[in-house]
Formats: sequence, C-alpha cells, structure tokens
Amino acid sequence: MRILLVEDEDKIANAVKRGLELKGYAVDVVGDGDTGLSYAVDPDYDVIILDRMLPGSIDGLEIARRARAEGQKTPILILTARGSIDDRVEGLNSGADDYLIKPFSFSELVARIQALLRRPPITSDSVLKYDDLTLDPSKFEVKRANKLIKLSSKEFSLLEYFMRHSEQILTKDMIINHVWNEDAIVMPNTVEVYIGYLRAKIDRPFPDLPSLINTVRGFGYKLSH
Ligand code: CA
Repeated sequence: MRILLVEDEDKIANAVKRGLELKGYAVDVVGDGDTGLSYAVDPDYDVIILDRMLPGSIDGLEIARRARAEGQKTPILILTARGSIDDRVEGLNSGADDYLIKPFSFSELVARIQALLRRPPITSDSVLKYDDLTLDPSKFEVKRANKLIKLSSKEFSLLEYFMRHSEQILTKDMIINHVWNEDAIVMPNTVEVYIGYLRAKIDRPFPDLPSLINTVRGFGYKLSH
C-alpha cells in the first residue's frame, strides 16, 4: 500500500517514513503545501497524510479541500498540533477522514492508517479474506488453509494489494504504483520476480488447492480461483 506524507518537519517525516517502510508501506514524503497538492491529486495513493501547518501558499486542510474537489477519493488523515474542537470539525469539513493530534505515537498512526485502509473495501473485518487465504494487516499475518505463511514486508504489501482488489486485473504499472514508492528503482522484471516469490509461498506449497495468483496474459495479474 502506498502512502503520501506531506510534512515539513524533517525529524517527524523521516521517522514516520522509516517506520512505515518497515511495515511494508511504500512512502513518498513532500515538505511543502504547493508540492503537496500536486502529489495529493494522484489516485495511486492508498492513504494521504497531511500535516496541517505547512510552508508554502496552502496548508494541509486546503490541500485536502482541493484534492477532494479534483475528485481524489483516497482516505486523508490530517496531522495537527492544535487540539481544539473547532479545529477538528474544520479538519473533517475539509474532506479529511480522520485527524491525529501532534505529538502522536507511531503505533497510533499505524492504527489510524489501517482503519482508513479498511474503511471502504471488501470487508468490515480487519482481516482480509479470499478463498482460504487470510491476511491480517494489524498482526502482519498471512494464512492459507489455516497454515501460517511467512512473507517479507514487500511480499506482504503486494499480497495485501491483491487482496484488496481480488478478481480485478492488476497491471504491472498499477502494482508498481501501489507497492513501491517513487524513489524505488523498479526494474521491468521486478514485479515478475515478486509474483514468483508470492506464488512460491501462497500457491506452490498447496498443490491440491487452486492457484490464486494468476497471470492474465497481455494484461497483468489477478487474484482469483
Ligand atoms: Ca508543520
């Protein structure tokens, strides 16, 4: 899952980016309001985190307002140093889905992100399910036919993307845009390589069960049975 973080305080930005990347998220960081807006309209982000006070001509709330006006549907979380009721209401009126008061704990940020990620899709349960495959983002746990499967953070992120879009064709470009950040060096065969890793763990150990990670020749890949 790919996250945009618009935050001008380097210390916070770096700590959050590093922490989220360890959890398998792809994170792009931008440090001012105007650049932030140009990124925030990109539909490839799965969650957008906006600091409220930013250098530049627009603040985090204004980015949220304008991104929504441009049709951005991605969940938006506002970081704000101020905690008054009015600020909260203003934040939510701007089109943000949630807010977090600074200073915040990293674990609370992760919990909010996970809540936002499961808000619209597939299941209200925190555990994603497809066929006999389950993925629990909060526990970083994947099981097939009740057997625990160990994945790297990148494999986990790739599988999570598949499970949130099951039975949809995902092109290589879509996969790259949702699973890797913009600084990542993604070679043309990187996606194939990771698909291979996933199949080796999700499908190959279960020869009696249907293969779930399927190639749609000429288009991309699909989680289906
Ligand atoms: Ca700030």
